[in-house]
Amino acid sequence: MKSLLVMKFGGTSMGSAERIRSAADICVQVHAQRPVAVIVSAMSKVTDMLLETLRHAEGGDERGVEEMLRKLGEKHRECCAGLLDGTARDETQIQLAEILNEFARIARGVLMLGERPPRSVDEAIAVGERLSSAMIAAHLRNRGVEAFAVNARDVVVTDAVFGNASPLMEQTREKAQNLLRPALEQGRLPIMTGFNGATMDGRATTLGRGGSDFSASILASVLDAEELWIWSDVDGIMSADPRLVSNAKVLEEITYREAAELAYNGAKVLHPRTLAPLMEKEIPVWSKNSFNLDAPGTRIVPVTRNGPMGPRAVTSMTNVALVSVDPASAALSGTKIMARSLEALAAANAEVLALTSSSYRQNFCFLIRTSELPAVIEKLEEAFSIELAHGYLHPIDVDLDVGLIAIVGEGMKGHPGLAGRIFTAISQQSVNIIAIAQGSSELTIGIVVRKEGVEKAVRAMHEECGLGA
Ligand code: ADP
Ligand code: ASP
Ligand code: MG
Repeated sequence: MKSLLVMKFGGTSMGSAERIRSAADICVQVHAQRPVAVIVSAMSKVTDMLLETLRHAEGGDERGVEEMLRKLGEKHRECCAGLLDGTARDETQIQLAEILNEFARIARGVLMLGERPPRSVDEAIAVGERLSSAMIAAHLRNRGVEAFAVNARDVVVTDAVFGNASPLMEQTREKAQNLLRPALEQGRLPIMTGFNGATMDGRATTLGRGGSDFSASILASVLDAEELWIWSDVDGIMSADPRLVSNAKVLEEITYREAAELAYNGAKVLHPRTLAPLMEKEIPVWSKNSFNLDAPGTRIVPVTRNGPMGPRAVTSMTNVALVSVDPASAALSGTKIMARSLEALAAANAEVLALTSSSYRQNFCFLIRTSELPAVIEKLEEAFSIELAHGYLHPIDVDLDVGLIAIVGEGMKGHPGLAGRIFTAISQQSVNIIAIAQGSSELTIGIVVRKEGVEKAVRAMHEECGLGA
């Protein structure tokens, strides 16, 4: 469908009855002009609340569970009451209660078991998006748009990596074409849940935190959309997180590769895997602000009109860990140890954010997300059980007091002396550089520093490269 637009509304854009109304205004307006498919996130904070409920349940805290269930019910009832009235409201309230009951059943199961099986967690936390999609769909129907809520577990087919699943694009395409295309052709407006999916045999999965962006790009790709618009609470993709850098400026255009590098290095504005499904078909993406419709937003495209522009934006991540593997015996081959470590990382399904090594000491260290640390340590200790037991390898060292900062831009290679200037600017803030990783992509320089220095270093780098408004 050539003119199809896919739009995604994030958590803040779905954060209250008033916000959902504004999102619906946008849907009504666009739907009058072209076919649209919409992806929604849960109301902001709801996924965190669902996870917190499960943590209470796992810890045997029944009162905590009931209190969270009460808060979740209240939040959605209040939002629904602000959006709808009469029969539509009553019917939607019943629907919301049913969805929340499904969640309560899982949470009470976890309470009984004392553990959280990953697949039950995925089924449980997808509830947030089911609740928000039910509300906005009902509200749109009330306004005369033939909208209908779709649970992505009926559309997005994934592998079985619970909590961080990857889509199987061919199978997803088939489902989307069968389920959504006929409706779109009839002028109906599907509102699909972001974040979740299911395996081929129907087990519930999720795509990782912030995954609704990824859901949207998956859907845009399999429906051959003309464009994807991602609605958030900032005017577009900026030269830095505006929460850290007060003079960060909105970028008019950036490339897929730049956006992907920014996201991988911590820019929360996009889920890291968002761009991948769009690259082959070159579907353009707009990052827009549902709180400020006058701002044009950022256009993400294969190549920018001005060509490579050198440094564009700075990002940071503090939920990371630096893991060091250090042979105690010169008899061990550093290369083999590295190869086996990387295999262990792959088995743990972890992503390496930066990697550095010393050929002299044969040791090396890599940066991963803290959330992936337990699985990584388990796999490393399993892989090196003999070497560790016999002292051929020093105990695996984990440093949590670190952060990653990165500068991203196509064409940085053509700016001689840039790296030196950045390192000097950071050092002048008395921030110690622990490791440097200049990605082979040539469009990112990643720097590991002490956690307390992250914000200072981000501002120094932003300033040194003249990225501000
Ligand atoms: P949503 O709920 O709509 O998905 P997110 O909270 O996930 O929105 O992402 C938007 C947030 O990303 C912004 O509020 C901003 O603080 C943060 N952010 C981090 N880096 C950047 C950047 N380079 N440009 C814009 N926003 C950024
Ligand atoms: N609701 C999910 C989360 O908070 C997905 C998303 O908002 O993109 O992680
Ligand atoms: Mg997000």
